[in-house]
Amino acid sequence: MKWSLKITRILGIDVFLHWTFIVLIGGVFIAGLRSLINGSGGLQGFWFIFLLFVFVLLHELGHALVGRRFGVKTNHITLLPIGGVASMEHIPEKPMQELQIALAGPFVNLCLAIFFLLILVISGKLPTWDELFSPGANANLANSLFSANFLLFAFNLIPAFPMDGGRVLRALLAMKFDRYKATNIAVRIGQLLAIGLICISFFTNFWWMFIGLFIYLGAGAESNYEVARSTLSKYKVNDATMHHFHVLKTTDTINDALKMLLDGQEKEFLVAENEEIVGTLSRDELLAGLSRFGNEASLEEVYNPSVVNFEAHMPLDEAFDKLNDSESDLGPVLDKGKLIGVLSRENITEILVIENSVPKKKSWI
Ligand SMILES: [Zn+2]
Repeated sequence: MKWSLKITRILGIDVFLHWTFIVLIGGVFIAGLRSLINGSGGLQGFWFIFLLFVFVLLHELGHALVGRRFGVKTNHITLLPIGGVASMEHIPEKPMQELQIALAGPFVNLCLAIFFLLILVISGKLPTWDELFSPGANANLANSLFSANFLLFAFNLIPAFPMDGGRVLRALLAMKFDRYKATNIAVRIGQLLAIGLICISFFTNFWWMFIGLFIYLGAGAESNYEVARSTLSKYKVNDATMHHFHVLKTTDTINDALKMLLDGQEKEFLVAENEEIVGTLSRDELLAGLSRFGNEASLEEVYNPSVVNFEAHMPLDEAFDKLNDSESDLGPVLDKGKLIGVLSRENITEILVIENSVPKKKSWI
């Protein structure tokens, strides 16, 4: 994943740290060092961020482990200060399963919040109601940890993409409507909610405006993606596969590839060595190679060595995710181990364009 640093691997899942978390940890670390130097001993902030990181990780592991129960593999987890992203191979067909996966993360934070509340009660340090939910700078650590988990729980349940609440809402709607329609309704509800929060912020607290804007912007990107995914889930890889294709060899020259580019419809090619696909070559990579090495250089110098294979009967939404996670714009399509064609990002986009041009029945969304 871009802009992220791999930090560990837990239960077979790679865990990445997003740069915003790294900046936050850096900032708090410097503040902690400063307070150490000043002798105020305020390392509580450092522990707080460290534990926040653990809570977000546990939240994501909650999603991943419940997903695993339903046979959904989690490729990796990326941690952000406000939550994380567990990148799953596919979303289960059954809405009930999606509902349980979406609820698992917030449920972890709810359990942790109850745990820290119990510590406060047992230690006799239960603060006032207001202090409990918005602890000041001098609050004890258990209080801060309670409110952090409660916030993570409540924030993630806001019923808008990209929050878990958006998925909960979609899963509930999908029990009544088909997945595409359920996604669309959930997206609209999320956007309305965000606009509502922005309006409310003028009369109450302006923090609601930040949250509203965050949801609106986040929902935009995520909902495009969700709509694209639910559109593609109706297709198999084979439907978007180019069955007429050429394979270049690593020993071919840039000139050979240019000829093929000008001669046909293909803009991207598979590259083989000894009958085996070893990489891909896009038009941009070819042109970059041309200006760097000239047209007599061999493709060995310019091809992209990352290869992702696709099974012809794989759902297209899964392939879309796999391609998005890869460094390449295309990959070979296999049927029972035999190469039958090429799947490219461009062809997937083509399907989305065609689908969006088909008139839909009018409805309130
Ligand atoms: Zn979550």
